Amino acid sequence: MTPGTESNPLRVAIIGSGPSGFYAAEALQKQKALVVQIDMFERLPTPFGLVRGGVAPDHHKIKSVTKVYDRIAANPNFRFFGNVEFGKDITHADLVAHYHQIIYATGAQTDKRMEIPGEDLPGSHAATEFVGWYNAHPDYRDLTFDLSQERVAVVGNGNVAMDVIRILAKTQKELYATDIADYALEALMRSKVKEIYVLGRRGPAQAAFTNPEIKELGELADADVIVRPEDVELDPLSREWLMQERDRTAEGNVQTLTRYAHFKNGAHTKSRKIYMRFLVSPVEIIGKDRVEAIKIVKNQLVRAEDGSLRPRPTGEYETIPVGLVFRSIGYQGVPLPGVVFDERSGTIPNQQGRIVDPATNQPVTGEYVVGWIKRGPTGVIGTNKPDAQETVNMMLEDAASGRVLNPTAPSRSQIEELLLKRLLTYVTYEDWQILDDIEQTYGQALGRSRLKFSRVAEMLDALAERKQAARVERVAGD
Ligand code: NAP
Repeated sequence: MTPGTESNPLRVAIIGSGPSGFYAAEALQKQKALVVQIDMFERLPTPFGLVRGGVAPDHHKIKSVTKVYDRIAANPNFRFFGNVEFGKDITHADLVAHYHQIIYATGAQTDKRMEIPGEDLPGSHAATEFVGWYNAHPDYRDLTFDLSQERVAVVGNGNVAMDVIRILAKTQKELYATDIADYALEALMRSKVKEIYVLGRRGPAQAAFTNPEIKELGELADADVIVRPEDVELDPLSREWLMQERDRTAEGNVQTLTRYAHFKNGAHTKSRKIYMRFLVSPVEIIGKDRVEAIKIVKNQLVRAEDGSLRPRPTGEYETIPVGLVFRSIGYQGVPLPGVVFDERSGTIPNQQGRIVDPATNQPVTGEYVVGWIKRGPTGVIGTNKPDAQETVNMMLEDAASGRVLNPTAPSRSQIEELLLKRLLTYVTYEDWQILDDIEQTYGQALGRSRLKFSRVAEMLDALAERKQAARVERVAGD
């Protein structure tokens, strides 16, 4: 019998609890044709993926999107299983045995590499590690960054680079009220960083940041943005491209950068300086035992076959002495055990969200993708909404024609039994709300928006303690 009825609901597993996973759940909840039961699995005890572990602490408003996710999670046909890792605690075979459809929403969990000499010297880091560290992500909790260095290079000029720069350049006053990890706040307050070099490999018209982010850099309390007037002079190809495309973001970026470039000479009086450089690519990170400098080559833009403007090295080099390097050149997806993967793009091969086996070019029955692991690491949180809807449309089409998995253990309790049999301490959504409450209460007592847990053991201990206290209170009240 085709699933999707009260007596035989369509059982869907979602792996990953970031925005794309939640929007997939929402799209499934919004359709009215089928009864759908959703179980969301998350490796960490805490949900929300990059909204918790990636969005910058000073972008508090963006994080309020989790209110929508709370509403999705409140649906009685939705369950959250946190602290359950796909491939370790629960396998592909387990999901096939328990669900009609599986959605992978695992994002892009690692970073791209520059593949240049010196990239692995101490002091050279992926921006993603720094981001995880200041956001209290348990995987990055114990990393250290040598903030006694005065000069830092940030490679790439996307919005992640902008986040990293702001966190390096903001004052204690600017960061204190945020939910930045307490240990990161402490380390940043001792920071000696004075100069930040932002290295974009193409010109100002091709910068990857968006208008609000570049404007925000100009509003920092104690950091100046410095752009050399010659760097905002557009080359003929960029001028022509901008005239033709009328790309609003690019136009806005060039305008803001031009304003920075013509800022009155001598007016840069703040303690920290952010130097925005364009048309330069790192070719080597120099240092004996640690990063001492970064060697860059000047680029010129050339038109590629697809019409885009690409950087080409000119052979003119420059060395900037820096003690820290953050490469912020994009995230990269990682393969999941038992699931097909395209190494080149770092995504799961799919057609409109239906996973496709590259060996046969046929859809893999019952398996789907959403978000960055589907389309690559681009777009903002909202981009995931239409992306997830597209996948869900395919799922509903397949369900209607009976192209679903045939689980041997499809009842709701069976997956819980399996997890309990494996002695897994899974975290429910109600449990997460307790953790959420603890974090906010502790934070607000200190005048901060939240004090984040950064270790899984601490989260589980705090939860057990709070639940025990509630039990004692209940018994005392009986
Ligand atoms: P991104 O926007 O793709 O930017 C990557 C940057 O790295 C670009 O400047 C790119 O230059 C450069 N790059 C790539 N390979 C390079 C190489 N080998 N050498 C030198 N430079 C290289 O990536 P992201 O900053 O990681 O952001 C990911 C997504 O999240 C984006 O869609 C972003 O808008 C979004 N995000 C949004 C916010 C926000 O809304 N505030 C915050 C954070 C992230 P080219 O352009 O020349 O390739």
